[in-house]
Amino acid sequence: TAGRAAAAPAPAAEGAVPAARSPYESRIRALLGRMTTEEKLGQLQQLTWTNDTGPGEGQNARATELARTGRLGSVLNVFGVKNTNALQKIAVEESRLGIPLVFGLDVIHGYWTTFPIPLAQAAAFDPKVSVSDAEVSAGEARSNGVHWTFAPMMDVARDPRWGRIAEGAGEDPYLTAVLAAAKTRGYQGRSKDADLKAKDRLAACAKHFVAYGGAEGGRDYNTVDVSESRLRNLYLPPFKASVDAGAATVMASFNALNGVPQHGNSHTLTGILKREWGFDGVVVTDYNGVQEMLLHGFAADPAEAGAKGLSAGLDMEMVSTALADHGADLLAEGRIDARRLDDAVARVLRLKFRLGLFDEPYADVDGEVTKPSAKARKAAREAAARSMVLLRNESGVLPLAASAGSVAVVGPFADSEDLLGTWVGPGGAKGPDGVKFPPVTVVDGIRAATGAKVTYEKGVAAEGSDTGGLAKAVAAAKAADVTVVVVGEPAALSGEAASRSEIGLPGAQERLIAAVAETGKPFAVVLVCGRPLTIGGWLEDAPAVLLAWHPGIEAGHAIADVLFGEVNPGGKLPVSFPRSVGQIPVHYNHESTGRPYDPDEPNEKYVSKYLDLPPGPQFPFGHGLSYTTFEVGAPRPAVRTIAASALRAGRSVEVAVEVRNTGKRAGDEVVQLYVRDLVASVVQPVRSLRGFERVTLKQGESKTVRFELGAEELGFWTNDTRGEFVVEPGEMELYAGNSSTAKAMARLTIT
Ligand code: BGC
Repeated sequence: TAGRAAAAPAPAAEGAVPAARSPYESRIRALLGRMTTEEKLGQLQQLTWTNDTGPGEGQNARATELARTGRLGSVLNVFGVKNTNALQKIAVEESRLGIPLVFGLDVIHGYWTTFPIPLAQAAAFDPKVSVSDAEVSAGEARSNGVHWTFAPMMDVARDPRWGRIAEGAGEDPYLTAVLAAAKTRGYQGRSKDADLKAKDRLAACAKHFVAYGGAEGGRDYNTVDVSESRLRNLYLPPFKASVDAGAATVMASFNALNGVPQHGNSHTLTGILKREWGFDGVVVTDYNGVQEMLLHGFAADPAEAGAKGLSAGLDMEMVSTALADHGADLLAEGRIDARRLDDAVARVLRLKFRLGLFDEPYADVDGEVTKPSAKARKAAREAAARSMVLLRNESGVLPLAASAGSVAVVGPFADSEDLLGTWVGPGGAKGPDGVKFPPVTVVDGIRAATGAKVTYEKGVAAEGSDTGGLAKAVAAAKAADVTVVVVGEPAALSGEAASRSEIGLPGAQERLIAAVAETGKPFAVVLVCGRPLTIGGWLEDAPAVLLAWHPGIEAGHAIADVLFGEVNPGGKLPVSFPRSVGQIPVHYNHESTGRPYDPDEPNEKYVSKYLDLPPGPQFPFGHGLSYTTFEVGAPRPAVRTIAASALRAGRSVEVAVEVRNTGKRAGDEVVQLYVRDLVASVVQPVRSLRGFERVTLKQGESKTVRFELGAEELGFWTNDTRGEFVVEPGEMELYAGNSSTAKAMARLTIT
């Protein structure tokens, strides 16, 4: 199975942060003993770099000078071995103690080789996809002098207006946790104390801690106010899974949580992360996050912000300089604790020891990877194809026949660099010396896949009202045997600071679909986007819709693989597609209400529904079709009853689910297991994903998939702020199927 991931039922730990047990502690102590207060504060400072100016210019000059005087711990955004090594040399050879710098970068879905965006990767429901991105990224980035990526992002998000939903794994805490752990290991290897030294590993950063995805109204950076149980059951499990998988660092989030900015939140940063979970790595701030506590109205001046941040549990300050500027005074005035300062410095030094930087501070000049390899491209192509979700396929438009005489490709994303998506690495936009690796376009991918005559017309603009090319696109569709309409959302409309109040297709793209539909000829829509879109307005016009997301560097090839059936699509939605913005949030795992909607009594008035919308989303979590069909049997638990005490003692219940390929070709199905706790002391979700496995089956083949349900899967966190995890006696319903609307059910009684 995909593995167990939810928060471990650990009792609340009070008191001091547990002592670290890495192999480096005596060296860390020795070094700390030799450091001045300024040098200590310097280790907590991370500054950014501008690649188009030299080391002596602008903000680079300041970073260089601080590195030379031993008052800088880390730099982010330096590209290329030449630059990282030159700056490292200054720190190592010229500063008094020669402590190496650690170089960080946002390697979010690729360095040179851009993989599909993380939300797309989640749609593969396959941890191997996340691992392949992480491993390729780590190899390319480390060889270019990067030690540390600000990834994986694991913010559970139920509001598709929030642009950063593209960076995470969607609306489900279990799926997000499984993938967060997989990705963390993919970047770091199995042991942070051993593997991080390798030339193809990166330190991971579990971000953004925590509940950033709960931004009210889906407006980026907005307030979050959630109960302790929601915090622990929904937002924390991916972080716990990543920390358990060895995440070397964690990044604080921009949002205020329950009235306290995360950068000053000791309950979460120290109480939960460091005490309860025993995290011994670095908590880095988000960009300028300490300074922003002034704008939150939580600190009067930078000194107070620095004091509050360090005291709450921050260890390294990204970009703003509150601690470097005021730390010595704060210490002298007793406003920060000397042991807390030493602990923060120790954590930064521990990261550097783990990365092996004291022994080998430089990147290997000869080992620099300078472009995507054929192997990396192959992995990116497979990842993209596995990420795609067949939303609809009426009258069998797809797969396209390779023998089609002519194919028209129309739409603004058929030939577009936006196929790479948000947060591209150096390979996507801004590499050293201006090198970049654009995506294979859909037009080129289709041309490579078929001997058919392929024509291309853009039709309409991606945004704005330009429909000048519409007539030509319609003519192309009329002249062709089949048309592929590539529409969607530009990369810049998702990601950070890219919230939208309307999430339909921008510009006049719907008109393009309508015009092609009017030709009466067969066509398929390929949807390119970084979030769920509202597509109800044109869905009925479009017999076939393939959701490709932002697929990355191999976009065109991967799309063609799926369109022509070379790859049978098997991806599933990691987030529900709403019917309209007014319906948001519309996640599958909402809590039970006292007035539930009942499909058998659709006219009942006083129930939880909208008067002007059918209940439920356009497409539910877990949905995704195939070119074949599958039958998923009822879940079969090995026992009907189990004692809560046995679960608490570590026992689990095996649940078998049979899946059979009932169609005419081989394909992939994602078997999904959901749990519903019928009566509990805290109102529970109507169902929760607790297991999944993507299987490949030949025509007629069947397989039994086995899941384990233990305390983690069957218990929950209460509202107690000290952290109380319970497994309560009572009835559980288990559902198995191929989407969150699965009907096949069994019961399990916890005594
Ligand atoms: C983002 C982080 C990112 C950081 C560094 C911030 O604006 O919120 O996700 O890692 O910048 O680039």
